[in-house]
Amino acid sequence: MPGAMAAGTPRKPATVAVPDTGRYYWVELAGIVAWVGLFAWALLRLVPAVVENPFWAVAMVMSGYVAADFLSGFVHWAGDTWGSYQTPVVGKALISGFRDHHVDELGITRHDPVDTNGNNCLIALPAMVFLVVVPIGNPWVDGLSGFLLMTAMWTMVTNQIHKWAHLPPEKLSPFLRMLQRSRIILDPDHHRLHHAEPYLSHYCITVGWLNPVLDGLGFFRGMEKAIQAVTGAVPRAANGEAEEFGVFGESIIPAIVESEPETRASRTVAGG
Ligand SMILES: [Zn+2]
Ligand SMILES: [Zn+2]
Repeated sequence: MPGAMAAGTPRKPATVAVPDTGRYYWVELAGIVAWVGLFAWALLRLVPAVVENPFWAVAMVMSGYVAADFLSGFVHWAGDTWGSYQTPVVGKALISGFRDHHVDELGITRHDPVDTNGNNCLIALPAMVFLVVVPIGNPWVDGLSGFLLMTAMWTMVTNQIHKWAHLPPEKLSPFLRMLQRSRIILDPDHHRLHHAEPYLSHYCITVGWLNPVLDGLGFFRGMEKAIQAVTGAVPRAANGEAEEFGVFGESIIPAIVESEPETRASRTVAGG
């Protein structure tokens, strides 16, 4: 459970980082409550438009699903690639979740609903507030509102879908397994490709439809090059935190083979 770690416990090299998220847990719970209230309010406002044009509503549900898939990949890539556990605000709120997940894949299956869904609700809150204050009645505004509302809805369920992809099949209903196998939601075999070395592809975790497109285009490597060129920041530079926190990919090896204090290879590869 979150917050279980004693505050004064000295940090040791750990297999999995367990940030002290005690207070943050309540922030997540408040985020979920706020999200549900705002979602219901925004949905009610759009009921007349849905009744008038159900096909429009279906198009919004589908386009929101694809948008959420992209968003899931983008946020996941950012969490895997930039910053560290100690980055203000997002270090604990976002980055720790993504990095821990690479050290302990099954940790997500032990999270309760608040842990599983709280962050996504918080991220979506600005959009949800926008959706309840924007004046509707204009077809374009209604269209944008419907699209954003459905994107928020699918973003909300993304972590749950991701969690299902890590659960043993026998713990899922036949219906959910059918959705996974049909690639209507994230398929565990597809998602496994993200959890394989070098951990640099298949970031989208709502359904993964966009993974072949984004990976094929080299979208995320291009983003990394552009960001590095402009800011000088080095992608995945915070992997050096591994010995203190237990981070991502390469850190698994020193965490398991405890007796071997092998120095991590220098990141300046050209130095040979
Ligand atoms: Zn990842
Ligand atoms: Zn995963």
